[in-house]
Amino acid sequence: SREWHLVARPQGWPTADDFALVEAEVPEPGPGQILVRNLHLSVDPYMRGRMNDVKSYAPPYALGEPMQGGAVGRVVASGTDAVPVGAHVLHGLGWREYALVDAAHTVVVDPELAPLSAYLGVLGMTGLTAYAGLLRSAEFAAGETVFVSGAAGAVGSQVGQIARLKGAARVIGSAGSDEKAALLTEEYGFDVAFNYKKAPVAEQLKAAAPDGIDVYFDNVGGDHLEAAIGALRLHGRAALCGAIAQYNDTEPAPGPRNLTSLIGKRITLRGLLVADHQDLQPEFVREVGGWLREGKLRYRETVVTGIERNLDAFLGLLRGDNTGKMIVSLPE
Ligand code: NDP
Repeated sequence: SREWHLVARPQGWPTADDFALVEAEVPEPGPGQILVRNLHLSVDPYMRGRMNDVKSYAPPYALGEPMQGGAVGRVVASGTDAVPVGAHVLHGLGWREYALVDAAHTVVVDPELAPLSAYLGVLGMTGLTAYAGLLRSAEFAAGETVFVSGAAGAVGSQVGQIARLKGAARVIGSAGSDEKAALLTEEYGFDVAFNYKKAPVAEQLKAAAPDGIDVYFDNVGGDHLEAAIGALRLHGRAALCGAIAQYNDTEPAPGPRNLTSLIGKRITLRGLLVADHQDLQPEFVREVGGWLREGKLRYRETVVTGIERNLDAFLGLLRGDNTGKMIVSLPE
């Protein structure tokens, strides 16, 4: 069995030298444990933060130890009747081919209800982030105008579609290529989309939303956040979900220059962590599952195959190689 270790803490952009793919014994499950053959692994932007030795909401990866992350797989040996051999589970020990996990720390998933990789994306962590962030953190209401950055990614593409399905007046998205921007309007039903690499975000947002926006869902930070603050109307809200433009910075980025405009416009900026919103899970699965079945909500995945390409997939995610959720698949 092979597993990825972090062997050095990246400075700025991670490089291949910071990681090692290591051979490990396949362990036997003890009582209450299960051995899982991982089939799909998640790579996520937050993992970049766990490579730094700083205290955060997720603990840092230890050097010389296997990295962790969302994964789904099939139980191949079991030390408990609760989760038998052949069951499929969602758990937190990705970046490896075989995972030994406490059965109590897994969620049994049904491959008949949805493709297994969907439990990492559209029906999983990124999907719930979109759902909770838009509806709860940003307090979106029907009739409002919404702007989302990172809009062709896993979270962003779902935010825009949920806003549309929940009666947004106008949905605007930004992404890093013309192809991604076209996908947003042609496949996901965004009203307007732009390529942020082509011209300043503030300019393009002004053109897309001449009367301003009510809600901003921030996946990017930096000039996107500053432009959105400029465009937010009276009582506007922003959910701060991520700041991927800054994750590889070695110095803290300067804050938005227009923060004082929050005062007059009574704007709320609210940080969002998906872990706080697990109570929405049943409602989220019911509603999003329904939209998927009815064909009202679409999703894409970018699939990279093989454990040896797990790192490439992660680095590609930071560069924007993905459209929709980035998945590493490990065929048996
Ligand atoms: P995505 O599927 O959106 O993939 C990341 C995308 O970020 C890339 O495809 C790329 O798209 C974009 N990107 C990379 N660099 C930049 C940049 N400099 N400026 C603008 N865009 C950039 O990932 P996720 O959907 O998994 O995550 C989206 C965001 O949500 C991240 O910030 C992540 O940290 C955050 N998040 C937060 C959670 C929470 O609980 N707070 C939970 C889950 C995710 P492009 O080609 O468009 O540049």
